[in-house]
Amino acid sequence: MSDTPGHLPKKPLSPEEIIDTLKSYSASDDEPGRGGLFAYVYETGLEDLKDIAHKAYNLYAEKNALDFTVFPSVLKMERDIFNIVSELLHGGEGVTGVFTSGGTESNFLAVYAARNYFRKKKGLDVVPEIVMPMTAHPSFDKAGDYLGMRVKRIPIDPDTLKLNLNLLDEYITDETAIVIASAPDWPFGNIDPVKEIAEITSEKGVWLHVDACLGGFILPFLKKLGINIPDFDLSIDGVYSISADIHKYGYAPKGASTLLFRDGELKLYSIYASVKWPGYIFINPTMLSSRSLGPVAAAWAAIHYLGEEGYISLTRKILNAKNKIMNGFEELGFKLLGDCLTTVLAYTHPSINIFNLVDVMMKRGWHLQAQPGVPELDIPPNIHLTLMPIHETISDEFVKDLKTAVEEAREMPRPNIEPILTLLENIEFENIGDILNLVGVGGGEPPKETALINELIRVMPPELAEYILKYFVVYMK
Ligand SMILES: *Cc1c(COP(=O)(O)O)cnc(C)c1O
Repeated sequence: MSDTPGHLPKKPLSPEEIIDTLKSYSASDDEPGRGGLFAYVYETGLEDLKDIAHKAYNLYAEKNALDFTVFPSVLKMERDIFNIVSELLHGGEGVTGVFTSGGTESNFLAVYAARNYFRKKKGLDVVPEIVMPMTAHPSFDKAGDYLGMRVKRIPIDPDTLKLNLNLLDEYITDETAIVIASAPDWPFGNIDPVKEIAEITSEKGVWLHVDACLGGFILPFLKKLGINIPDFDLSIDGVYSISADIHKYGYAPKGASTLLFRDGELKLYSIYASVKWPGYIFINPTMLSSRSLGPVAAAWAAIHYLGEEGYISLTRKILNAKNKIMNGFEELGFKLLGDCLTTVLAYTHPSINIFNLVDVMMKRGWHLQAQPGVPELDIPPNIHLTLMPIHETISDEFVKDLKTAVEEAREMPRPNIEPILTLLENIEFENIGDILNLVGVGGGEPPKETALINELIRVMPPELAEYILKYFVVYMK
């Protein structure tokens, strides 16, 4: 017993045993290099890029950014990265950055800085607000929750799926600490009208943050390839901060994002420092305190290894894939949502249940993200695809499978949610397990079919769905 994994072995495991066991654990993981995923990874298919990034990671894996006076290399690597991101996003002289573990942390720190800035200006006795289009990423809800702020999501225009600018003016109040714009948003890939938003926020003196987590490392290259990308970055005066993930279209290993501030004073508000205890000087520019330099070095390596040429060539591959995949969808009668300037696609279909299609495609090895749409605004259920360079190699096969999947999904009935909705009317902690059984995840295993779950989430009160999801996470195997 004591030497089986999960118990501290009396005698150490050998390196072979360790690697074999870890490999066996990954048996049901998807393999990003296969090209079957349309989210989660940003696969280039470039083995040499991975090699150099992993080498750089190992070189710095043991070093700790907690004290940058002991490991000043972190400052050198990060400054190089901030400089490059700032050049890509048209930052001026005073721009300064933070290197974070991901988009959620970058966005969190932007909100944290804006809250502190707001408090300094307006005093402490109001609950500060985050105002954003309903398409903004949930990391802002999370930041609001952690930081005790009120989050107000502005309905989008049901036709364009973009922010309704007239409403923005109404939503901003004296208690608004920050306004968020996305470039682009995740669900539909639309770029918010940052320039027009900035005119409103500047006039009111409100912090404007641009979430370019997804777009920071792809919009500049799409623009260089002649695509008409509207201005979205630090070239616009009213933008106080902007986030860009290096672990998305920067193609670095996970754990790499940047947050840039227009000037050093704004960054001051994002840093936490404490000398209130009898221990070491505690000064954290990020949410994490101890953190490995591995991701910083790997990001530095990926960016410098690809260079502008590398990024442009990878962007071309995505555009080739996009072209073929879009033609496939169009021929099968799908309807595109969003304006499709970027590398994100969202489709709905007039006559098949899109959630069933997701399951049918999953059986064929393709992972499409189901999105609920917005019932109140008549925005239908749809699927999301984040396109990546690897998709150039699989687009023909994908389109072929999509064709047969549509036929199969056409025959399937819409999942019946009525009996479960009745049960949900008086749900108690004790019978959440019954609900999970009914939707096929009672054993705590990941679901093999998701259509029923997606139908439910579309119509359930969000707080109830969120509670059940948390329960599932606690008890899953
Ligand atoms: C991915 C993403 C985030 C969050 O990034 P993580 O790295 O997953 O924390 C935030 N905003 C947008 C628009 C994104 O696409």
